[in-house]
Amino acid sequence: MKIFNTMTRKLEEFKPDDRKLVKVYCCGPTVYDFVHIGNLRSFVFYDVLRRVLEYNGFKVRLVMNITDVDDKTIKKSREAGVELKEYTENYTRYFMEDIKKLNIKPADLYPHATDSIVEMEKIILKLKEDGFAYETDDGIYYEISKFKDYGKLSKTRVGDSTFSRINADEYEKDNLADFALWKAWDKEDGEVYWTGKLPKGRPGWHIECSAMSISNLGPTIDIHSGGIDLIFPHHENEIAQSEAYTGKKFVNYWVHPEHLLVNGKKMSKSLKNFYTLKDLERSGFDPLAFRLLMLDSDHKAKLDFTFEALEKAEKTLDDLDITLKSFAKLKENDRNGPEPEIGLKAFDAAINNDFDTHAGLVEFFRVVDIARARIKEGMVGKREKTKILDAINTMDGVLGILEGYNIPDSIESLSKERSDLRRKKNWNEADAIREKIKKRGFRVIDMVDGSYTIVKNRRV
Ligand code: AMP
Ligand code: ZN
Repeated sequence: MKIFNTMTRKLEEFKPDDRKLVKVYCCGPTVYDFVHIGNLRSFVFYDVLRRVLEYNGFKVRLVMNITDVDDKTIKKSREAGVELKEYTENYTRYFMEDIKKLNIKPADLYPHATDSIVEMEKIILKLKEDGFAYETDDGIYYEISKFKDYGKLSKTRVGDSTFSRINADEYEKDNLADFALWKAWDKEDGEVYWTGKLPKGRPGWHIECSAMSISNLGPTIDIHSGGIDLIFPHHENEIAQSEAYTGKKFVNYWVHPEHLLVNGKKMSKSLKNFYTLKDLERSGFDPLAFRLLMLDSDHKAKLDFTFEALEKAEKTLDDLDITLKSFAKLKENDRNGPEPEIGLKAFDAAINNDFDTHAGLVEFFRVVDIARARIKEGMVGKREKTKILDAINTMDGVLGILEGYNIPDSIESLSKERSDLRRKKNWNEADAIREKIKKRGFRVIDMVDGSYTIVKNRRV
């Protein structure tokens, strides 16, 4: 398995610290609003990362944090006049719904920042004690010049200079500064504060991820992922905090998927150029069409989102669905003649080459095309059929684009009724039943041999 490591800017062979368990930390959503499909591009990528590791036989422990306290969540909950916890719980629930719809396997743990304050306190106190942090009136700051490797991920040079300090969670590389580990309470924070071993206040964003990674996965993890915008300052700061605290290497492989764009600009809340998954669903799209669209692109390249591309992806899913349903019903014979190669070698090579799901999909559809050819011939060898179906299911273990949905009995019997009416050339009544089935979310496809296949109706 090869992974492009942002730290070295090289494609490297993946070697876990412990072959029995691969430890992965992924930066999760800041739950101040619905996540947009740009965020979801990153979350689909995390899922691919996990599935590829599992495909290679690794056991994975994946932790994804929920940022439920930071500048944005506090500001938005106050504007809405809702208590922070209630406010963020709402958006956390919506986020969970979205990832389920996208066939994203749940993380092993979703720690909430507000449940990890004690761990943050511990780290901050030690950083202060060891001279990496200092206290001012408005908080406790990390002194970046004290950490000799500061800038190693984003390739920023720091040296021994002194820096001004910054209180905001997000800032640009040009604003290189000492950053807030802990922010002293001010009236904008309202009821959001903790009192304990630190002055009355609340954590900065970056310390949250260090604390949740170290406390749930230990000082060193195999892989840390997050969207490319997180390289600086978020991940740079995470390294500085974590390595100064534990004295150990924080992360072995850093993996950063690229952004989803709209008209050439990063999709983001602040630019107001975003769509949510609900927006896509409202336009009648199947969430899995979005997943397929993401898998079809190179995660290391920017991707401009268009509805045309989404429509194409949905059409592909639709055809795939019809093919597989018809193939499952295809008559079998004992043909033992020469069979086309249905190995997984090329697929393995694709996905193990830095999660190249685009090339993986090419292999997947190569096998689907063999199934299509057999459907045209009206017959398939018993052994070949099993081989084709096994290959498709194995590959889908990584891709996750096939749905296991049931056709209700009522739809089955309506379809049978329609088929009988057609045999009696009672077209009008048969068409009326087709409409009825459609309204209930399914579609009957008539096959050339007179049989029929029922599939989900994606365009409702
Ligand atoms: P946030 O909720 O802003 O903390 O972001 C959650 C995740 O989504 C992070 O890993 C971000 O890097 C990622 N992200 C934000 N915007 C985009 C985008 N337009 N495309 C891809 N990933 C994004
Ligand atoms: Zn993070």
